[in-house]
Amino acid sequence: MTDPVLRLEGVRKTFDERVVLDGVDLAVAPHEVIALIGASGSGKSTLLRCINLIERIDDGRIWLGDRDISDPRVTADAVRARIGVVFQQFNLFPHLRVIDNVTLASRAVLKVPRAQAEATALALLDRVGLADHARSYPDRLSGGQQQRVAIVRAIATNPELLLLDEITSALDPQLVAEVLDLVRELKGDGTTIVMATHEMAFARDVADRVVFLDGGVIVEQGPAAEVFSRPREERTRAFLHRFL
Ligand code: ADP
Ligand code: MG
Repeated sequence: MTDPVLRLEGVRKTFDERVVLDGVDLAVAPHEVIALIGASGSGKSTLLRCINLIERIDDGRIWLGDRDISDPRVTADAVRARIGVVFQQFNLFPHLRVIDNVTLASRAVLKVPRAQAEATALALLDRVGLADHARSYPDRLSGGQQQRVAIVRAIATNPELLLLDEITSALDPQLVAEVLDLVRELKGDGTTIVMATHEMAFARDVADRVVFLDGGVIVEQGPAAEVFSRPREERTRAFLHRFL
C-alpha cells in the first residue's frame, strides 16, 4: 500500500473494564472508501470516535499520515482540522445560519479570513444545490438538506479523511438517496472515507473495502464484492443474511 492516510494498530478501547474494541488493525489508503459494517453495539461508532480523538484509546496506536495521533500530547483540535466528521443526528448549530455552520471551523480553527471562507462555502453549497439556503437557519431545511450541509461543513476544511457515522439512519427513506448520492460524488473526487453504515446496497456499490466488526473485533474484511458475495466467516454470513 502507498503510505496510508490512516493506520490503526492493535487499537483497544474499554469502558469501565468492558472491552469495546480489541486489537483493531486497519490501514486506509489514499482515496479509499471503507464501509464499516456490523450489528448495533459492535463498536463502529466507538472506532470512529477514537480516530477523531473524541475517545482516547487504552492501547495501540493510530497514525494520521505520519503523525501518531494516539500520542497523549496530541490535542484533539490539531487532529479535528484534518479529519471531517458527520454523525447520524444532524448536528448543525441551530442558532447559526447554514453559511456560518459551514465556515465555522475554517474561520475559528484554521483562521481563514471570513470572505475567503464564505467564498469556499458558497461554492460547495452551490455544488450540492443548496446555495439558495446559505442564509437560512438549519430548521428551514429538510433532514436530507441538513445532512448535506453537515457533509459540506465536514469537507470545507479540506480534510485528509472523512468519517461518516450512519449519516442516513435518522432520515426519512425518501431523503436517503440525496445524501448517498453526495457521498458517491465525494468518492468520485477522490475523498478518503471511512463510513459506518447499514446501507448494505450502497456499501456494496460504493465501498472499495468492507470491514465487518463483531464484538469490537474485525472478523473479516475485503473488497466489497467479495465480502458480500462470498463471506468467509460464519459470523459475517449470519450478519449479512439479515439484510437479504
Ligand atoms: P455501534 O456504533 O456499532 O452500534 P458503539 O461503538 O456505539 O457500537 O458501541 C459499542 C459498545 O460500547 C456498546 O456496547 C456500547 O454500549 C458501548 N459504549 C459506547 N459508548 C460508550 C460510553 N461512552 N460509555 C460506556 N459504554 C459505551
Ligand atoms: Mg453507532
